Amino acid sequence: MAKVIHEKNTCVGCGACAAVCPKYWEMGGDGKSHLKESSAAGDNFELTLENVECNADAANACPVRCIKIEE
Ligand code: SF4
Repeated sequence: MAKVIHEKNTCVGCGACAAVCPKYWEMGGDGKSHLKESSAAGDNFELTLENVECNADAANACPVRCIKIEE
């Protein structure tokens, strides 16, 4: 299992995650990205998956490192 965590307050809305992993990431009307089907957890958004899939690419592409993966 893998937990994907988006620290949304840190997100600068560059769009890199949505570019490399559109299955899970999209840009929102608030100028930040959104982790599809995630749940709010405090200031963060979280999604638990069987496999990390392209979220690893999203985490690596994020310039402010606000996408975390826990496996
Ligand atoms: S790559 Fe990082 S900073 Fe850029 S939109 Fe995605 S989460 Fe936000």
